[in-house]
Amino acid sequence: MADLESLPGLENATIVPRDAHNISRKDISPNALKVLGRLNSADYYAFLVGGGVRDLLLGNQPKDFDIATDATPEEVRTLFRNSRIIGRRFKIVHIRFGREIIEVTTFRAHHEVENEIERGTPRKQIRDLDSAHSSEGMILRDNVYGDIDEDALRRDFTINALYYTTDGFRLLDFSTGVEDLRNRQLRMIGDPSTRYKEDPVRMLRALRFSAKLGFTLEKSTAEPIDKLAHLLASISPARLFDETLKLFTTGYAAETFRLLENSPLGDYVIGPTLDALETCDDAAANLIDLALENTDRRLEEGKSVTPYFLFAALLWPVLRVIEKQLMDRDEFDPGKAANQAIAEQLELIAIPKRITYASKEIWELQERLQRPTQRNVHGTFNNPKFRAAYDFLLLREDSGEDLGECAQWWTDFQDGDTKKQAEMREALQGSGRRKRRRRRGPGKKSS
Ligand code: ATP
Ligand code: MG
Repeated sequence: MADLESLPGLENATIVPRDAHNISRKDISPNALKVLGRLNSADYYAFLVGGGVRDLLLGNQPKDFDIATDATPEEVRTLFRNSRIIGRRFKIVHIRFGREIIEVTTFRAHHEVENEIERGTPRKQIRDLDSAHSSEGMILRDNVYGDIDEDALRRDFTINALYYTTDGFRLLDFSTGVEDLRNRQLRMIGDPSTRYKEDPVRMLRALRFSAKLGFTLEKSTAEPIDKLAHLLASISPARLFDETLKLFTTGYAAETFRLLENSPLGDYVIGPTLDALETCDDAAANLIDLALENTDRRLEEGKSVTPYFLFAALLWPVLRVIEKQLMDRDEFDPGKAANQAIAEQLELIAIPKRITYASKEIWELQERLQRPTQRNVHGTFNNPKFRAAYDFLLLREDSGEDLGECAQWWTDFQDGDTKKQAEMREALQGSGRRKRRRRRGPGKKSS
C-alpha cells in the first residue's frame, strides 16, 4: 500500500488522528471499503471524500460514498470489471455493486469550470463568468490531474473537502472543514465570488446544503449571491433540472422551498411558481406546503418520491392562475392551461417529457375523480396514474379546497369489495349516451 507519509501535498494537510473523530469503519458502505482496499492494494492512494465524510462526521447516514484517488480513470477501470468511465468534460468512474454506485474521481487541479454555457447566451453574461471560456461559449477543458491538496481546493465548501483514509483511519483537512463543521457553517473555499462565477450552480448547492444540514452561510459566502444569482440563467436547463430535483428530493424540500422563496435564486428554478403564489388562492399555495412536507416524510420513511408528483404539485398554483386567466377570457381549455403551465417551467429547466406527461395526467385525472360516472369509473380506477391522482386529490382537500364528497367517495370505493364497488357504480349518474341506449328497450343487456 502506498505510504501516506509520502503522499504529495500532504504537507498542506491538518491530520486528524483516529481517536479525534467519530468516523468508524462500520458506518462505511462495505462496497466503498472494498474499492478503497483494492485501490490501496494496487499501490494507489484512495480516500473517502465529499458528502460521505461530511455526513459521517455529523452522525448522519450518507446518501452515497465518493472516492478520490491518484489512479487515473483508465487505471481505476482496469481494476474493477463492474466499472464504467462516464463524463464528457472530465472523466469519472462509476463502480456498480447491485443498486449501489461508488463514484471514483482522480485528484484534479484547478478550480475548473463545471458550467456549460449554452449557445446563444447573451455576451454580457458570458463576460460576467470566468474569462477562461472558449469564444464558442462552451467550456471545454481537459482533465487536469493534480495532487490531493489541489483536489481539495477545487471543491466547493470546506466541509465537503475532508478526506478519510483507512490507512490509520485518519482524516485530512486542507482548509477549515473540521472547524466549520463544528461551527455548523458553510464556507466556500477560496474567493466566493470567483467560485460562483466559475460555476453558478454552487449558489444552489449552498442553499441546498444549508436546508439539509441546517447550517448557516458564512458571511462572505452568502454575500455575493444576491448580485450573482442571475448567472444561473447561463446554466444548461438539463443541469438545472438535475439540481432542482436534488433540491426537492434530499429530504428537506419544505425548508428548501422556504429558502428559495426568500432568495433571488428561486426565480431561476421555480420562477413561475413563485410568481403564481402572489395571485393564486390560499388552497393552491397550501397544497405546495403539504406536498413538500409529504415528500420529506416519505423520504424519512425510506419510501420513494416520484418527480412527476412533485412537479404536479409545484406547478399547481401556476396551472390554477392560468386556468383563471383563460376563464376570464372565456377561453377555458384544461389541456391548453396544462401545456402552458408546463411550458413556463420548461423555459427554466429541462424536465424530461416522461415526467411532464405524467404530471399532466395527474391534473387531467382530477376532473374525472371529481365527477365519476358509471361509464368512466372503472377506466379511472384502472388508470396506472390513479393512485397518484387520488393522493393529489386528497392533498387538494387537505389544502382547504372544497371538493364536496368526491375524495371520500373514492376512499370508500377503493376500500370496497367488488359487490360494494358495483353498488357504488350503480348509484352514480350514467353518461347521457348510455342512458339513451338503455331506454331504447329490452333486447340490449347493460354491462
Ligand atoms: P450529497 O451527495 O449529499 O448531495 P455531496 O457533497 O456528496 O452531497 P456531490 O454532488 O455528491 O455532493 O459531490 C461530491 C463532492 O464533489 C462534493 O462534496 C464536493 O466536494 C465536490 N463537488 C460537487 N459539485 C461541485 C461543484 N459544483 N463545485 C465544486 N465542487 C463540487
Ligand atoms: Mg455525494
